[in-house]
Amino acid sequence: MTEIPAAIHPHIRINSYGWYLRNRFSCRVSKVNVDAGFTCPNRDGSRGTGGCIYCDNSSFSPGETQAYIPIEEQMAAGMAYHRQRLGSEKFIIYFQKFTNTYADPAHLRSLYGRALTHPDVLGISIGTRPDAVTPEVADLLQELAKDRYICLELGLQSMDDEILSRINRGHTLEEYIKAVKLLSGRGIDLCTHLIYGFPGETRDNFLKTADLIAGLGINSVKLHQLHAVKGTRLAEQYMKGEFVPLELSEYVAAACDFLERIPADVTIQRLYGSAPLEIRVAPQWNLKNNQMWYAVLNELKRRDSWQGKRRA
Ligand code: SF4
Repeated sequence: MTEIPAAIHPHIRINSYGWYLRNRFSCRVSKVNVDAGFTCPNRDGSRGTGGCIYCDNSSFSPGETQAYIPIEEQMAAGMAYHRQRLGSEKFIIYFQKFTNTYADPAHLRSLYGRALTHPDVLGISIGTRPDAVTPEVADLLQELAKDRYICLELGLQSMDDEILSRINRGHTLEEYIKAVKLLSGRGIDLCTHLIYGFPGETRDNFLKTADLIAGLGINSVKLHQLHAVKGTRLAEQYMKGEFVPLELSEYVAAACDFLERIPADVTIQRLYGSAPLEIRVAPQWNLKNNQMWYAVLNELKRRDSWQGKRRA
């Protein structure tokens, strides 16, 4: 136990983002999702059409967030929910749905500013794609980050360009690296989204992503298994036998291998992706989020291991 670095939560053996926020802001902090009415360049034709093969935004957006509702109302509802359920005191507003930097910088400034105006809001987190990060967006976020918490969540999903092409991501690894370099050194927290389990992907190939994350100085990671929901091309591939979902044991083992190779100071925001039962196609693990965290913790304990152990 004494070897576990200070950044790592002593009980869960992972530098969880919740733990990090609590230490950084000395209170209970929750992320509150808002839908600000963005679209995505990989859907509207400027980069591609049809989107990523697994993309159905209803699978990762709570029902209460709808673009026609002003973000102030969405924030109030989300904050009330987290206050009551978790006793949260402060909040990070998460611009989640679609590509949340894909608009005119003046519109972005106004929108982000509206979220940051609330006295209980510590900062904002913005989900986007590498090709939607322009120098103007980077300058705006740098300005906001001078006195607020700003996190930019970049979807990479895979560092293999062949996989990125097969899943119709509409960007390359090089574009991701370019975006990270543009954003680095500006006081902005950088989070990267990753998925494990693409057809043709090996565990060894996936694990190389840990070195990429470490080398680029990424601050936090969101990881989940590839899963298919109704209405997506991935669901069609599953029906035709072209997508075979991971076994739970394989995902947990790979997630632990990955965590062991990730530096201890990288915070982990997510280890599991789930969708409502009505649209969930495969895999059908029927796990709650905390059950996945326990599955990973138990495997780390079994190995007498923790995040970053293999980087030491
Ligand atoms: S980049 Fe995101 S929002 Fe756009 S198609 Fe892919 S998963 Fe969907």
